[in-house]
Amino acid sequence: MSTTEIIFYPSNWLYNAGVIGLLRLLEATGYSVTNLFQDGIIIGDGICSYLERILLFEKSGVSEFPLDKLPKWHWYYVKTSFEWNYGSIADFVVDKLRKAKHSTDKSKLKEQIQLIKKSKGKKNKSEGKKSVKLTYENQTIDFDDINNAIADIWEKTFTQNPQYTLDEAAAEIIKLIRTKENFYIYRKAIGYLFSQDGFYQNLYNPSWFGDLNKFINLFTPDKVFSPASSSASICSFCSDSRFEVEPIDAKQMSFLFPVFSQFPNAYWQNNKKTVAQICSLCKFLIIHHHLALIRLSDKSEIFINAPSFQVMWYLNKFAREILGSASSREMRAKRTLLAMSVIEYATKIQTTLGVWTGMNIEVVSKKDDQIEFFSLPYEVIQLLSDRRIASLLNQIGELEILNQVLDQDFSGLMEVGYYLLRLGFNSSSKQTKLKKDKPANQKLRSEKNRRNPAEIAERIFEQHQNPTKTAEQIFKLCALIEEKRK
Ligand SMILES: [Zn+2]
Repeated sequence: MSTTEIIFYPSNWLYNAGVIGLLRLLEATGYSVTNLFQDGIIIGDGICSYLERILLFEKSGVSEFPLDKLPKWHWYYVKTSFEWNYGSIADFVVDKLRKAKHSTDKSKLKEQIQLIKKSKGKKNKSEGKKSVKLTYENQTIDFDDINNAIADIWEKTFTQNPQYTLDEAAAEIIKLIRTKENFYIYRKAIGYLFSQDGFYQNLYNPSWFGDLNKFINLFTPDKVFSPASSSASICSFCSDSRFEVEPIDAKQMSFLFPVFSQFPNAYWQNNKKTVAQICSLCKFLIIHHHLALIRLSDKSEIFINAPSFQVMWYLNKFAREILGSASSREMRAKRTLLAMSVIEYATKIQTTLGVWTGMNIEVVSKKDDQIEFFSLPYEVIQLLSDRRIASLLNQIGELEILNQVLDQDFSGLMEVGYYLLRLGFNSSSKQTKLKKDKPANQKLRSEKNRRNPAEIAERIFEQHQNPTKTAEQIFKLCALIEEKRK
């Protein structure tokens, strides 16, 4: 197979998310991805030859049999997917226990215990027909011992007179899982990705779940880079004819088409006619797309789409970091998250956003089967990607100020500066009086008042050590914005 001269060009968002997801996986294997970007595209030779190696020759690096037989890609695919969905083993266990604890549906809880017990009982009957196993060439790893022990702990935790606190139960269960941690990760991730309602549910037969060989053989270099038998067929995703294409099977790829019948209200902005076939490489790329999605607290999953892979790589990385450090008090609006990611990009990345700011940077938001696209106005992206403006906004560090910029309310911004300055010059006694005069119950403030420059200034004043300095920074910000808008 020839993988020379493959170039990845940004395409529809799903393809882009697939590429970014793949890059996340490659990075997890230790591959340096940041050198791959060239003017927004990716010269794929390096990636493709690396992929051929890790899809076949290089092994997982896991010591336990039979996971040591897994090629590197296979292991990192399940491992990064597990982490993407569950976090760590500890996160996973604590989350399950907490959900059970808070479950108001007690019958469901009972059902759960019955289910674990059932798999426990099966062992004695017919060699545990339905219990979870991993097989590789007639050798079997089972989870019966772990499941039995977990069922016991579970029962003793969720009962009238619990013998375990939630923390104790978590610690015990984590200890149990640790004894077969990697097997557990493998099995959970495969189930999660390919079972009913999973991301890629019809791509994989549920009866294959425990069979390591099935998983290995479904993703081999020959299948990923399957040479085209005719050069006439062009892939709808990458517009290339290098690899074998197949008609898009709406059922098999139901993950692509939650609303296939309602095109064009579907996953990407192309229309149904043009998205008719997919090549072997794109099919492979797309099964990484979940790794690029960022989960928000409103249960939506977002991806920042842009006309450059480098921009997408960093914006999504920053968005993930910002989200991770956000206090729960601040429910991040999608536009704020996007804006803050652009600010991070402008201040941290040496190459500027430059030409890309002229193009569309959008948030793709997926919630249940709904896909929404959302972007900041061109002028706003222009402002935020200016390094001086971005770093000033960072220094000021006030969401309210950022929101005013996003609203393009520049006269309001100026007013906030003036109010803040005036408050700063007031004597301390006057400040106290001013605070007293204001109603303490902030909840009563209407949305309109929250946007009032005087109110904003006051809130900043109450929270900032040096309001005069903040006022100066706001004036400087206004001057830079003025200059930029000329
Ligand atoms: Zn393709």
